[in-house]
Amino acid sequence: MDYLAGLNPSQRAAVEQTEGPVMIVAGAGSGKTRVITYRVAHLIRKGVDPFNILVLTFTNKAAKEMRERIMNVVGAEAKNIWMGTFHSIFARILRVEAELIGYPKNFTIYDTDDTKSLIRAILKEMNLDDKLYNANYVYGRISAAKNNLISPQEYNRNEALLAEDRENGRPQMGQIYMTYAQRCYRAGAMDFDDLLFKTNVLLNKYPEVLHKYQHQFKYLMVDEYQDTNFSQYLIVKRLAAVHENICVVGDDAQSIYAFRGANIQNILNFQKDYPDVRVFKLEQNYRSTKTIVNAANSIIANNKNQLEKNVFSENEEGEKIKVVRAFSDNEEGKLVAEAILQEKALKSLNFKSFAVLYRTNAQSRAIEEALRKLNIPYKLYGGTSFYQRKEIKDLIAYFRLTFNPNDEEALKRIINYPRRGIGDTTIEKIIVAADRNQYRLWDVVANAQMFLDGRSATAVQNFATMIQSFQAVANRSNAFDTAMHIAQHSGILKDLYEDKSVEGLARYENIQELLNGIKEFSEREDIEEKGLDVFLQDVALLTNDDNDKDPNADTVSLMTIHASKGLEFPVVFIVGLEENLFPSQMSLNSRSELEEERRLFYVAVTRAEKKLHLSYATSRYRWGTLNTCEPSRFLDELDPRYLDLDFKPRAMHADEGSFKTDRIAWQTKGDDMFSKPKPKPVKTTAILPKAHIPTPGFAPSDMRKIQVGMEVEHQRFGFGKVVNLEGTNPDNMKATIFFKELGQKQLLLKFAKLRIV
Ligand code: ATP
Ligand code: MG
Repeated sequence: MDYLAGLNPSQRAAVEQTEGPVMIVAGAGSGKTRVITYRVAHLIRKGVDPFNILVLTFTNKAAKEMRERIMNVVGAEAKNIWMGTFHSIFARILRVEAELIGYPKNFTIYDTDDTKSLIRAILKEMNLDDKLYNANYVYGRISAAKNNLISPQEYNRNEALLAEDRENGRPQMGQIYMTYAQRCYRAGAMDFDDLLFKTNVLLNKYPEVLHKYQHQFKYLMVDEYQDTNFSQYLIVKRLAAVHENICVVGDDAQSIYAFRGANIQNILNFQKDYPDVRVFKLEQNYRSTKTIVNAANSIIANNKNQLEKNVFSENEEGEKIKVVRAFSDNEEGKLVAEAILQEKALKSLNFKSFAVLYRTNAQSRAIEEALRKLNIPYKLYGGTSFYQRKEIKDLIAYFRLTFNPNDEEALKRIINYPRRGIGDTTIEKIIVAADRNQYRLWDVVANAQMFLDGRSATAVQNFATMIQSFQAVANRSNAFDTAMHIAQHSGILKDLYEDKSVEGLARYENIQELLNGIKEFSEREDIEEKGLDVFLQDVALLTNDDNDKDPNADTVSLMTIHASKGLEFPVVFIVGLEENLFPSQMSLNSRSELEEERRLFYVAVTRAEKKLHLSYATSRYRWGTLNTCEPSRFLDELDPRYLDLDFKPRAMHADEGSFKTDRIAWQTKGDDMFSKPKPKPVKTTAILPKAHIPTPGFAPSDMRKIQVGMEVEHQRFGFGKVVNLEGTNPDNMKATIFFKELGQKQLLLKFAKLRIV
């Protein structure tokens, strides 16, 4: 079978152009990721050793999926491809080379929590106001510096940066960065940005190391290249410098990480860096209906900064984009849940076909609640990762400390958990003693008798002895036996076992779950090194999605738009299309930020294959108060030809002309015969539909009895009047009903619980 048959001529040309620099900048759904996947398979078929191929993806999930597809073409060899996120690939390389740059092989990776906790500790020591020097702000600033390859020393020599900090009223920023870097180093720890920063240091300082990897990675490919930052850009450039077999794919219209330092210029500069680059254009979208592709084009046309692209679809025209207005975030959730059930039944889909996308994580609550009420199974992506749960982090901190006793965040976390009589004062004393003598915390802890007195000295000494005994166990046991020993002898298992509350039980089960995972790891046959240190290596890089025990489970996917990049679903709901939410309030200060929000909307819309639903609420709880919301400007920007509104837009009235050409009055004013005044934010109950107490005896309506003009009562929507009936087949017969409270709705009679009044 011709394994390249599933490609169009431009895609095929890009796949077959294996040598030299290649760039593909193309619209959403045009097969960029598919080209990379086929290209790797093609290289291996041509005889390239998988060990010589490096593929950088944006998520671990994307890497996993790609590997599976390649495996279908080339078989088990695909396991040997170097494929993963920037962070995971370079963490792997740093594990081998760390000692050259002064880090232990078992260096710890500090996750966001560790980083912030360390920043807070430094602020406290420096007596700085943690409101002014907010930990998130400081983290962001340090992160930006690292991603632009500015070391702490350079930062403190850089007059422009220092002046900027002074102007911002935060003159100590440079000093915080310096201390932060020293503490990480002392702890043998790298944060996420260090994984890229230190890789650059390594490749820059050690030509022989650079040389080794340049020759290993004969072929490099980068997906989602538009979202790489300077640090990533430079690593790729250095590694590709010898062979120049580098293929990058991306879409400038989908660049959505500028806020984290991604630089769209990396795409634009590619041609300058490689003057003999071969550029391939992909214009046909294979993912979505014509309606969705055209609507997406109409959005992005509002951005001034973009590369010229013509994206088209030859798929079916498809259904119009449904736009739904809800009165509150809770009602929005309910409408989404109901629409999922209706559409699932109508089109015989499974739950996996649906995704609900939102701008901010906080929005998932209302959606989750509504899905649960209707027993719709769902999976929340990017929520709190399993590995971020307190009890899991506690046990992992013991593991971390066992392998890297200098890991100060781990040490501080568990030195008195479970409680062993080491109070805050003692911990302060340990920190002071370490700072005064330029020791590491562990040096003080392991020699507690020298620095502390009496009972606290004994308690700390016992703790150190316990950790040393764990080290001895780890030296002679596999991952599972070590983990089990530590869970038992640290007292964690007992502590959780004794907590008989529901939460306590859940925490105990989570620990068991972790231990089960480690057991599976120790029994794996495809790896040689089965120590707990190997298991531990990249735990900090794992996300919720990597702990997916059943990736084929039939569930609706819930995630932020950022997390949905590169993915596709038959039916997509984008919720919360309101001003100050999407576009986000924080983006309204500059054109470039607003354009990034618009690109985000473009990403969201282009995830849909067959059907897209958009919704907004006219009121929403945010930060504990109820706010009136205005529909998003993005709704206005969509070409109305592609929209299907669930309410009657004002401009549709005969005397106001056709809404195809007019701007749509998104607001409720004058919508229908029960039009109500624009709600005021204070009167919460007035905006929400009155709770309707269902009358017993509702059942899916008997459509034979229902006629136009009839007064009916719906179990949830209340009283209304039938204004139209469509269809003759009982399976798809629809009624348009004007409800007194909610306005016009179209219901599938098959599901509608109506009563004739
Ligand atoms: P995004 O910009 O969202 O990352 P992309 O450009 O990477 O999208 P892919 O995900 O590779 O696009 O492809 C989109 C969909 O179109 C996938 O389902 C893919 O299998 C399908 N597809 C791409 N090219 C073809 C083709 N030549 N024939 C059939 N299907 C294709
Ligand atoms: Mg892609």
